[in-house]
Amino acid sequence: MKPTFKKILSTTLLMALGASGFQTASFAATTPANNKAVTLSQSAANHLKNIKILATGGTIAGTGTSNTQTTGYTAGVLGVDALIKAVPGLDKVANISGEQVANIDSSAMTNEIWLKLAKEVNAQLAKPDVDGVVITHGTDTLEETAYFLNLVVHSDKPVVLVGSMRPATATSADGPMNLYNAVALASSNAAKGKGVLVSLNDQINGARDVTKTNTTNMDTFKSPELGYMGYMLGGKAHFYNQSTKRHTTNSEFSVDDLKSLPRVDIVYSHENDGREFVDAAAKAGAKGIIHAGTGDGSVYPVTKEGLLDAQKKGIVVVRSSRVGNGIVSHEADDDVNHFVTSDNLNPQKARVLLMLALTKTNDPSEIQRMFDEY
Ligand code: ASP
Repeated sequence: MKPTFKKILSTTLLMALGASGFQTASFAATTPANNKAVTLSQSAANHLKNIKILATGGTIAGTGTSNTQTTGYTAGVLGVDALIKAVPGLDKVANISGEQVANIDSSAMTNEIWLKLAKEVNAQLAKPDVDGVVITHGTDTLEETAYFLNLVVHSDKPVVLVGSMRPATATSADGPMNLYNAVALASSNAAKGKGVLVSLNDQINGARDVTKTNTTNMDTFKSPELGYMGYMLGGKAHFYNQSTKRHTTNSEFSVDDLKSLPRVDIVYSHENDGREFVDAAAKAGAKGIIHAGTGDGSVYPVTKEGLLDAQKKGIVVVRSSRVGNGIVSHEADDDVNHFVTSDNLNPQKARVLLMLALTKTNDPSEIQRMFDEY
């Protein structure tokens, strides 16, 4: 009897039950010869790398009500076990074990989950028998999580973030192949020391430069102007570029003793702007403000007064740009105003770096050094 869509859906949903919380699922490959399970600890014998999959939700774990539904579905439904089972042959690529860190739509990602995730990634990579980590994640804030981890993971073992644009129930869902490639990438020696990587749609991007460029298309993750780091082809990683910026083992930032992150807000500029949102951020207790300026980080006159007042209260102000490409040039005026400039980080990436910078200092010139180096 052919399985109906409803049956497939109820099976996947059943597999997803119990996916919340912090569970560990061990995946055993069965060898036909002796019909015994090969567990992660026995893996030395099969020469495959040991890869930990940390699941956080997203569309890759999402379900719709029909196989043509590609919008308006529910993200973060299926558990890590269901994601792994959807990729036949994954056990030939690596010895896999999975763990559920969260199961959310990534538009609801929080600093608390970031801290928990980063600590877990560091703990996993510190184990001699873990060779790499794959993180399944929603695509909305994937670039921010990737950059955060790029700055606080202290290992040169591969860390790969992966998601999908179509839910697991869709025809031609992209999740399983993306996950296959992510595990292959995390298992590759070439991925070592490159910082946190993002792999979807057969492409490899670096955490610092990658951004989501299309709301719904599968070909959405790009590193505009600077380019992909490489491609995944036939289960192999092909690298062409790498970042010259500080990351992972060369980063001064750490989450080890952090229980929270300082509040940093983004204020987006436009024609006929005002200062109300800057004042609101200050009133809400922001320790830093990223100004997503027009053009080369330009600030509307009244907004500038608001930012200068905020700076005088000790709030660190970073001039970034809403343009999406290029360096925000650091002018003599910035030193007079004690404003930091974001180099070529987009506003959401600048926010990540500023939060971590503020865990160390609130001196604008020291924070400018960090923006120049990371
Ligand atoms: N809203 C979804 C999320 O970020 C989108 C996706 O994963 O593609 O979780």
